[in-house]
Amino acid sequence: MTTLLEHIQAPAGTGRPITDPATGDEVGRVPDATIADLAAAIETARAAQPRWAALGDAKRVERLNAAADAIEAKAEELAVLLSREQGKPLNGPNARFEVGACAAWLRAATTPDVSPEVIVDDGQVRAEIHYRPLGVVGAIGPWNWPMMISVWQLAPNLRMGNTVVMKPSEYTPLSVLALAQVINTALPDGVLTVVPGGREVGEALAAHTGIAKIMFTGSIATGQAIIRSSAETVKRVTMELGGNDAGIVLDDADPAAIAEGLFWGAFINTGQTCAALKRLYVPDTLYDAVCEELAKLAATTPMGVGLAEENVLGPIQNRKQYDIVASLVQEARRSGAKVLVGGDPDPDAVGNFYPATIVAEIDNDNALVAQEQFGPALPIIRYSSLDQAIAWANGLDVGLGASVWSPSPQRARDVALQLQAGTVWVNEHGAIDPRVPFGGSKSSGYGVEFGREGLLECSQAVSVKGSAGSFV
Ligand code: NAD
Repeated sequence: MTTLLEHIQAPAGTGRPITDPATGDEVGRVPDATIADLAAAIETARAAQPRWAALGDAKRVERLNAAADAIEAKAEELAVLLSREQGKPLNGPNARFEVGACAAWLRAATTPDVSPEVIVDDGQVRAEIHYRPLGVVGAIGPWNWPMMISVWQLAPNLRMGNTVVMKPSEYTPLSVLALAQVINTALPDGVLTVVPGGREVGEALAAHTGIAKIMFTGSIATGQAIIRSSAETVKRVTMELGGNDAGIVLDDADPAAIAEGLFWGAFINTGQTCAALKRLYVPDTLYDAVCEELAKLAATTPMGVGLAEENVLGPIQNRKQYDIVASLVQEARRSGAKVLVGGDPDPDAVGNFYPATIVAEIDNDNALVAQEQFGPALPIIRYSSLDQAIAWANGLDVGLGASVWSPSPQRARDVALQLQAGTVWVNEHGAIDPRVPFGGSKSSGYGVEFGREGLLECSQAVSVKGSAGSFV
């Protein structure tokens, strides 16, 4: 039986090798798509779009649920490929979890009611809003959650009658090609196409006149470039950009009870998560106890090759990101901050393994706090006044997520409502839910994904208005 990898790989002797960040072994060869391939994919998507839209909502919902079934049937094969290419372990909140989330988010995109609404019907005027397809949507994604984020981008668009052309990250294209191969068993031809090219293909997709909207998830700098090029054609854009999420522990919290939630809030996907906890503010009175609990977890949580069942932390996906994390921790140490655990990667390790690292006694303006580390290193900042901690949490120009940790619902809510972020979690962090809109504030982006709000952003709202009785 042909494996998914055999289906999607470049023919022998062609394409570009993709290596496993844990072992350095070759995972497979990705076909190198060109701008001409992109143009052809957009043409195909344009031709397929009217038929996909005409199929109607009920039939599209049926297809999306069939795609979720297909993912579940191939879940293990997808998870193994994802683990080898991205590096994330099979277990923990990692590869198997990500594949499960792909099916869950596809199904969740089928449930909100997006039928037309009557907004005025007063005997004199009748007005309705219809949510119509946009056309062909371009999706450009990152390397940290390549499959799940692809589904966040494609599922709402397919539901709303758009066709989709995806440009995956050059670091993790095989995962996205394999996922699309499975999803496409449930879709008509041309509705979903993946073009595995470099950034020049992303640039061309963002600038193309045949694309109605760009769904982008990635860094702020790339988001800005896409926004600039979208101006030319007044493209719609959804921007899910970087963050540097703060968590504030309140002084009534129990360090032992919240430690595990804090740890996984920060170290999910070995810290390579947009809405991970990236700086933690802890009051004087609890500081040592929280540091101790987190250091214990960091020292004992198994890290290693993803395919080994016991591991739940893995390598950093690429050397560029590894170097960013290593240099931020080194700088912090040089500045006098205290590395409680981690911080000393094994120089002889084969893969990009950087140990889970907890850094204490660090100033709020240290680069490890002020910049997005996007890896397994958590700075813990001491505070003595809650107002000061809130001001520090809000002091950056990003605001994706934030969290408050307290057993008092009233105090937690009061602080949550003072934090500047697209999502504020209480006693959890990064716990996204397909029913709850997710998006950034400030430079973390605009537009939301998930829920009915996320679906409507993938459509053109058309108001139909006339005098009462002039249309039905
Ligand atoms: P990146 O911006 O380097 O790359 C993302 C994608 O953009 C890749 O596919 C890349 O090829 C493409 N690209 C690069 N230059 C382009 C250009 N000029 N025009 C069009 N496309 C171009 O991001 P990354 O390093 O892959 O991802 C990490 C970043 O993504 C982090 O900052 C992280 O916080 C953020 N992120 C955000 C979310 C969210 O939902 N807000 C989710 C995951 C990751």
